[in-house]
Amino acid sequence: METIMNQFSNSEMTITYEPRVCINAGRCAKELSDVFRNSVIPWIDLDGAPSQSIISQVQKCPSGALKFHINQKVA
Ligand code: SF4
Repeated sequence: METIMNQFSNSEMTITYEPRVCINAGRCAKELSDVFRNSVIPWIDLDGAPSQSIISQVQKCPSGALKFHINQKVA
């Protein structure tokens, strides 16, 4: 089975979203709607809130569909 992965990056971090894992609880869109947007593509806007707020919200995702990592700095 093919896995569809959505990936969103800014200069600091990368968020990945796995739609097959998402249980559509809507928690991300309810609690941080400037970043996790229901009706706009791309649906994750990393300019919508400070990075720490986005990371905190990702950590609350009940299904694990949202994940993040800090981008490696290029020396
Ligand atoms: S919080 Fe996680 S499980 Fe809930 S809608 Fe967002 S991505 Fe899906």
